[in-house]
Amino acid sequence: LVALESVNKHFGDLHVLQDIDLSIASGEVVVVIGPSGSGKSTLCRTINRLETIDSGRITIEGRELPQEGRALARLRADVGMVFQSFNLFAHKTVLENVTLGQRKVRRVAKADAERRAMELLERVGVASQAQKYPAQLSGGQQQRVAIARALAMDPKVMLFDEPTSALDPEMINEVLEVMRQLAADGMTMVVVTHEMGFARSAANRVVFMADGRIVEEASPKEFFSNPRSDRAKDFLSKIL
Ligand code: ATP
Ligand code: MG
Repeated sequence: LVALESVNKHFGDLHVLQDIDLSIASGEVVVVIGPSGSGKSTLCRTINRLETIDSGRITIEGRELPQEGRALARLRADVGMVFQSFNLFAHKTVLENVTLGQRKVRRVAKADAERRAMELLERVGVASQAQKYPAQLSGGQQQRVAIARALAMDPKVMLFDEPTSALDPEMINEVLEVMRQLAADGMTMVVVTHEMGFARSAANRVVFMADGRIVEEASPKEFFSNPRSDRAKDFLSKIL
């Protein structure tokens, strides 16, 4: 579904992505882990073209990423993204947050967009908050709204960049539970996270990055019980 081939990116002198090859099959859940600064966020951001790349190729369903205009807007809709900081529109209600993209990018009629939005808010467990503004919600609720907003675009793939890192501990599980359900429903997902429990239970594959490279790729079972590289061993010894 998604393929990166020899992707390279620099920020000035920093070679932040080095010859990245990664392909993600439909329905697959790939968890990306690695030390701070290893390029995990940058990798996610290149997939929906929030960052350009210097060389290599990124394709979604075999088509290269569009450069600009409406094609790029549609690509962003096909690739749902959920960030650490919830990034909801503060001056819009929860319901408006989830209908806006459908109306603007997908050209869905208002009533249909609202019906779809309520279904999704129901699914992530925040339907009762539909008329509130983001600031009136807990962090966990806001993040679930952000997930509903991305899902409203019927994305082909969902990218999560540390979706629970900004949350109080008691709210982490409600968000992970929504993500687990999504995974079980067959959504294709790329998840950057420090939640190793989620990686173990929901990932089909773990990708370990360090210094802009994919150092290791394995099933969660294999990776956690028998990491091959010293970098991965060192990383795991610090976090587990
Ligand atoms: P973390 O776990 O801390 O989120 P990460 O693996 O997501 O780290 P990235 O955010 O992808 O790492 O950053 C990789 C490297 O690129 C870091 O050294 C960072 O400082 C640098 N970097 C990221 N964005 C930019 C930018 N816009 N301009 C310059 N350097 C950047
Ligand atoms: Mg990051």
